[in-house]
Amino acid sequence: MNTTNTSKLIDGKTLAAKVLADAAEKVKTIVSHTGVTPALATVLVGDDPASATYVKMKVKRTEDAGMKSIRVDLPADTTTDQLVSKITELAEDPDVAGILLQHPVPSQIDERAAFEAIPRAKDVDGVTATGLGCMFLGIPTFGSCTPAGIMTLLHEYDVTIKGADAVVIGRSPILGKPMAAMLLEEHATVTICHSRTQNLADTVRRADIVVAAVGRSNFVQGDWVKPGAVVIDAGYNPGNIGDVDFDAALPNASLITPVPGGVGPMTIATLIHNTAIAAAQQLGVELD
Ligand code: NAP
Repeated sequence: MNTTNTSKLIDGKTLAAKVLADAAEKVKTIVSHTGVTPALATVLVGDDPASATYVKMKVKRTEDAGMKSIRVDLPADTTTDQLVSKITELAEDPDVAGILLQHPVPSQIDERAAFEAIPRAKDVDGVTATGLGCMFLGIPTFGSCTPAGIMTLLHEYDVTIKGADAVVIGRSPILGKPMAAMLLEEHATVTICHSRTQNLADTVRRADIVVAAVGRSNFVQGDWVKPGAVVIDAGYNPGNIGDVDFDAALPNASLITPVPGGVGPMTIATLIHNTAIAAAQQLGVELD
């Protein structure tokens, strides 16, 4: 990755540190008003090493922000019923402010059923159908962490969203779809592309804002990027490689996220921030 032109770089690492510091301040306020230390429950099913690493990072950031972490590790052969019953227990536990189910879960589990066991008030990862519906309806809710983190980055860098042509490549329920909803809510004209999209390159060439959420290394080519476009790379592929060919996209982009250090750090920071807000809402603490 050529990072010589640093004026174009969107620095997710620095902004994530600010978001985490703000979450820690909120936690302090909550503890001083209520004496309660908020908790995030993380649920991990199975022993996938990448998922275990993500959970470890989330636990660390939770504790760094002054919150408690409740780790629930379940065996790989857990059934849907067992997982739903564990999540229901956490949902009913007043000590738990937020619930994160690390996904993907093993294939025998109905992931949607497990997500739907999380009540909206504790859905700090923005994965439930109700949460996604709220995102599309513009009803305040906890936005899915990766797209919500991307919105925070766009705001921080004063990117004009209103009236912009935004192209989101990818339509997953945790990334592409909520990303499109959030951009639409802020008055972008949004096009969602996917594996059956015709003339993808030409569609991307029209975009003022491109969000790549495909899961394919270096998928977005440099000559797909309109001069002056803002390029957000949500991809995280083996070898720390993004979905955008960074070096080729850099000359045309006005702003671009590197991988790593762009979108990635914002995802966990958003999760922690959402959890602090969820705790305040549940405990009736007003935050600034
Ligand atoms: P996903 O569920 O696999 O979705 C990928 C999307 O890309 C699908 O909608 C798919 O279209 C589309 N796609 C695949 N091949 C395509 C092609 N040739 N042309 C156009 N569209 C194509 O993946 P995801 O969970 O959204 O994740 C996407 C990327 O973001 C991955 O690299 C993942 O690691 C990364 N990610 C990063 C973070 C973070 O914190 N940084 C968090 C989550 C995910 P169809 O719907 O038609 O199949």
